[in-house]
Amino acid sequence: MKKTAIFPGSFDPITKGHASVVKRASELFDEIIIAIGENSTKKSYFPIEKRVEWLKKVFANYPNVKAITYTGLTVDLCRKLNAGYILRGLRTSIDFEYERCIGQMNKELNPGIETIFFLTDPEYAHLNSSIIREIHKNGGDVGKFIPEGVEL
Ligand code: ADP
Repeated sequence: MKKTAIFPGSFDPITKGHASVVKRASELFDEIIIAIGENSTKKSYFPIEKRVEWLKKVFANYPNVKAITYTGLTVDLCRKLNAGYILRGLRTSIDFEYERCIGQMNKELNPGIETIFFLTDPEYAHLNSSIIREIHKNGGDVGKFIPEGVEL
């Protein structure tokens, strides 16, 4: 059976850390679907159309990587797209505690879906979309934190 993984997140904006997780995972799965959650309560900084466009650009040469938007529960998206795996990245023990909670909740919601964690490459462990937004908001240069070819 085809192994499809969903990589859910805000990607507001995509960082080199996200990109590295997807590239590494693309060798293990038949298909990776990067899914930007449209959250009615959480206001994004960058428009969703831009975030999708950047993801598509970064993974243009990865035929098994797609980018979409979604609303609702990630486990429902998995069911709809026949994806058996949720992909997440781990930078620190703080990420671990947060991710453990979501992963175990998702397991209760749908025991058939496995969450797979990738440890961040050490050189990207400090990259954080919310800090990048803050630097951008204040006119700082964020070019070295985001994948090449992405113009914020
Ligand atoms: P969310 O809003 O769901 O936290 P993000 O877009 O911030 O979404 O992150 C999506 C996933 O990527 C999460 O699993 C997060 O831990 C992971 N991630 C975020 N930054 C990095 C990074 N620098 N390196 C690896 N993984 C990361």
